[in-house]
Amino acid sequence: MAEFYSEFPSLVIFIWIGGVLISFSMGSFYSTLAYRVVRFYYGKERKIGSKLFRLRKILIEPSSCESCGNKITGLVIFPVFGYWFSKKECSNCKVPINPLYSLCEAVFGLLFVVAFLLSGKLLGTFAFLALCGHLLVSASTDFQKFSLDYENLPFILLFGALTNYLFFDATPGKADLIVYVCFSAVFFLIYFLFPNAMGFADAVFAPAFALLCGHPWWIFFLNSSYGIAIIVTVLKRKKGESLRRVPIPMGVYFSIGLALTFLARLVSNSGLLPEWTNFIL
Ligand SMILES: [Zn+2]
Repeated sequence: MAEFYSEFPSLVIFIWIGGVLISFSMGSFYSTLAYRVVRFYYGKERKIGSKLFRLRKILIEPSSCESCGNKITGLVIFPVFGYWFSKKECSNCKVPINPLYSLCEAVFGLLFVVAFLLSGKLLGTFAFLALCGHLLVSASTDFQKFSLDYENLPFILLFGALTNYLFFDATPGKADLIVYVCFSAVFFLIYFLFPNAMGFADAVFAPAFALLCGHPWWIFFLNSSYGIAIIVTVLKRKKGESLRRVPIPMGVYFSIGLALTFLARLVSNSGLLPEWTNFIL
């Protein structure tokens, strides 16, 4: 494959620029999807129209201002930079635009660059970005509503399995199934013994995420998820507040942990790490 690319240098430039632009658009689609899922399935608008009507609103309605509903047109619709083209506000109602969308689109572009550099696999990189998109939806419902929606899980499993196959030639094996069964057993046990410590959805999602990580990477997944959760929770704590009462949206951290695990596996596979790390990884 490397020889093929070196014969057509202009093709390489085309793939990189095209790939980054497609990734920006995927970031735009998934950040809008995350916003709309919360709004139409969890917000006041969840009672408007039929399920199909809301599904159509979520998936194919063009981007519009969150505040006045004015359709976004022209240069402003361009991912990442549209935020600056619009002068950071809606042209109709002048309400400031949330910079998170632009940031999110840029992160998707960055993820494309990192994943494609490390893997050299274009299709795998897009499967990984789609996985990250669905993780973003889960993280956002969990962050805002403390709820993980189950409709999203099949997509995470589908794109996760596809990423595994395209990046690492890996299909779920016996060891991965053992990981899944053990994770489910431990998480459901914790859920039934200490129902306040964990949500039911966490007990469904975490084992599925561990299955995607496989053996032995579930260890990295578990450590990075809880590690980041603890660090963020401690840093965000208000003075004098007891940590035991702070609800932690674990779905957010499991999502971050899963994406990080895939990136760590890419780094480990790329041969970029010094030899001494073989001892650990
Ligand atoms: Zn507006």
